[in-house]
Amino acid sequence: MAQATDSIRVLPGIGPKKAELFAKLGVTTLADLLRFYPRDYEDRTRLLPIASLEADSPACFIASVVTNPQTYRIPKPGGRHLEYTKVAVADHTGRLNLTFFNASYTAGRLQRGETYCFYGALTGDFLGYSMTNPLFEPADAAGTVTRCIMPIYPLTAGLTNKQVLSAVQAAMARCGVTETLPDSVRQTYSLCDAAYALREVHMPSSAEALEAALKRLTFEEFYVFSAALALLRAKRTVYTAPPMNTGRMAVFYDTLPFTLTGAQRRAVEEILSDFRSGRPMSRLVQGDVGSGKTMVAAAAAYCAANNGRQTALMAPTEILARQHFDRLTLLFSALGVRCALLTGSLSPAKKKELRQKLADGEFDLVIGTHALLTESTVFSDLGLVIADEQHRFGVAQRAALLAKGQQPHLLIMSATPIPRTLALLLYGDLDVSIIDELPPGRLPVETYLVDERYRVRLNGFIRRQAEEGHQTFIVCPSIEEGETESLKAAEQWARTLRDSVFPQLRVALLHGKMKGAEKEAVMEAFAAGEYDILVATTVIEVGVDVPNATLMVVENADRFGLSQLHQLRGRIGRGGAKSYCILVSDNQSAETRARLKALCATSDGFRIAEEDLKLRGPGDFFGSRQHGLPAFRIGNLAEDLELLKQAQQAAAETVSGGNMPESLRSAVENLLQNSEFAMN
Ligand code: ADP
Ligand code: MG
Repeated sequence: MAQATDSIRVLPGIGPKKAELFAKLGVTTLADLLRFYPRDYEDRTRLLPIASLEADSPACFIASVVTNPQTYRIPKPGGRHLEYTKVAVADHTGRLNLTFFNASYTAGRLQRGETYCFYGALTGDFLGYSMTNPLFEPADAAGTVTRCIMPIYPLTAGLTNKQVLSAVQAAMARCGVTETLPDSVRQTYSLCDAAYALREVHMPSSAEALEAALKRLTFEEFYVFSAALALLRAKRTVYTAPPMNTGRMAVFYDTLPFTLTGAQRRAVEEILSDFRSGRPMSRLVQGDVGSGKTMVAAAAAYCAANNGRQTALMAPTEILARQHFDRLTLLFSALGVRCALLTGSLSPAKKKELRQKLADGEFDLVIGTHALLTESTVFSDLGLVIADEQHRFGVAQRAALLAKGQQPHLLIMSATPIPRTLALLLYGDLDVSIIDELPPGRLPVETYLVDERYRVRLNGFIRRQAEEGHQTFIVCPSIEEGETESLKAAEQWARTLRDSVFPQLRVALLHGKMKGAEKEAVMEAFAAGEYDILVATTVIEVGVDVPNATLMVVENADRFGLSQLHQLRGRIGRGGAKSYCILVSDNQSAETRARLKALCATSDGFRIAEEDLKLRGPGDFFGSRQHGLPAFRIGNLAEDLELLKQAQQAAAETVSGGNMPESLRSAVENLLQNSEFAMN
C-alpha cells in the first residue's frame, strides 16, 4: 500500500519525464492525483441502433463488421501520404461505412464477422452518412471507452487524457482515501463517503453516482474553506467591548425627515444587537447605490454618541467626507450630536484645534478620510469606526485600528452588491447586513445600448441636456499600454469633444493619473455646475452626488463588468429629473450584447451582480483578481451557492462544537498554508 504523500513516481509508467509533465498540472503526489478532478465529462452511455443515429450527435451502437478493412494511401506533396482505412458495419437496422484516418493499425483490429461497440458521431447528409474515427471495443467487453461516462482531464502537451486516467486508476488502486467529513455532517447533508466520491468522480458508473460524487466533493471543498474562516473568526472574538444601551433610538427615528425602509431598519437592528453583545462588532453593510446606507451609519453613530462613545466616519475622498458632513450636521445638530470635519485641506491651526477637542471628548462624531486613523488623531473614547464606500478595509487599516489600543466596533459600508454568500467568503470574518430595498419614489435610470451609428443623435442628446441646464458624465475605459486605438482614451476624447464636437460647451477631464487634490478640484467644480460635461475614467465610480447630472454615457461599454457599469450608473438619477444612461459599444458579439442588455433591463444591483458572477465567473468579478477569493478546484461559486451555504453552516457547527476531526484540521492547515488564501 502506498502513502498518499508518496510521489507519483511510484506508479508504473511514470518516469521523470512524465512526472515533470504532471508537475506542470500541479500534481506531484498520489494525493494530488486523486484530487486532480476532470474538467468535464463525455456522456457515452447512449446506445442506439444504426438507423436511429443522428448527424453530429455522438452515440454508441453495437454492430458487426461486414467487410474486410481496406487501407488506402494517397501521395501528398512533400512526399507525405494521406492514409485512411474503410470498413463497413451493420446491425439489424442498417449498414454504415466507417473511415479511419491515419489509424490503419487500430482499424486493422476490426475482424470481419465480429461484433463491437462503437462510439462516434455521424457526418454527412441525405447523400449518405458515414462516420470518421469512431472509438470501439469488443461488444462483450466491459465498457471502458464506450458505454461509459468518460472523464476529460485538463492536459498539457505530451500528456494524453488516457495517460492521466490510467495514472489516476493506478493511484486509486494503491492508496487509501481519508475521510475529512464527520459522519454526522455526511448524514445531515446526505453526502457519500470520500472513497466512493473519488472513485465515481474519476470513473463514473452512472450519471447519478457522478452527481453524488460531485456534490460531496464540492461540499467538502467549501466545508474545509469555511472551517478555516470560522477558525480565523473565532480567534478574533477573544476581545470584548462594553455593551451599549440601545434603547433610546426613538428620538433619532422621529427626527429623520423620512421613515427608514424595512431593509434599513433591519440593518440598524443588526448593528444595535452587536452593540449590546459585549463583543466588538465587525460588520459589512452592503447596499445598492442610493439605498440609504448613510442613514444606517448615522443611526449607529447616534447610538454610540448616546452611550458617550465617539465615532470616526471615514470616506475615501475629502469631497465625500465633506458631503457626509454637510448632510449629517443638519440632522445631528437637532439631536445634540457634535460633529467635526477633519480633512487635510484645513489649516494646521484649525486641525490642531479640532484634534484637541476630539481628544477632550468635545466631539461625538468626526468625519474625514482614512488619514483619520493613520494620522496622530487621539480620541477620548473611540467606540465606533465606520468605513464608507469601501470594498475592503485592509489589513493596514485594521492594524492601525488595533494600534489605537482599543477595540472599537467596526462598520464597513460597501455599495458593490455582492451576492450574500460570496460576501461571506470575501469578508470571512465579518457579519453581513444587506440593504436590498431602495427608498420609495426613486425614478429608475433609463438605460440604452447603442452603437456608433447613433453617435450624431447622441451628441444632440448631450447638447440638449446642457441646454436644459443639466450635466453629463462621459466615461471612457482606462487604457493599458499596448491596447488598440479604437478605444476612446479619456484625455484624447475630452480634447476631441472640447475642440470639435462641443466647442460651445464646458468640458472637464478627470482621470486616475491626476493628483488627489487636482481630482477633487475638478469633481467639485463639476458638482458646482461649472462644467457641462465631465469626461472621466472610472475614478468617478465612488460615491459623489451631483444631483444635476442626468446623463451618463459609457464609451466602449463592453470593456466594463456589469457591476461596474451599474455602479457608474448610480452616479446619476440622484435629483428629481429623469436620467439616462447610454452604453456605447460597437462590439457585435451576441454574448456581449446580451450582457449589456441585461443592464438595460434591470436596476437591481444584486441581480446584476449575480448575473455578472454567472457570466464572467468569480475570477473576473471585480474586473481583477484582487478580491482575495480562493480558486476552488471543483466548486463553482456561480452554480453551487446553495451548497456553499450548507457547507458554511456545517463548518460553523463543527468548529464551534470544538471537536474537529484530525483530518479536517490538517486539510484546513493545508489550505491556510498553500492556497491563495489572501483574506483581507
Ligand atoms: P447610499 O446607500 O448610496 O450611500 P445615501 O445614503 O446617499 O445612499 O442615500 C441616498 C439618498 O436617499 C439620500 O438623499 C438620502 O437622504 C435618501 N434617503 C435615505 N433613506 C431614505 C428613506 N428611508 N426614505 C427616503 N429617502 C431616503
Ligand atoms: Mg453612500
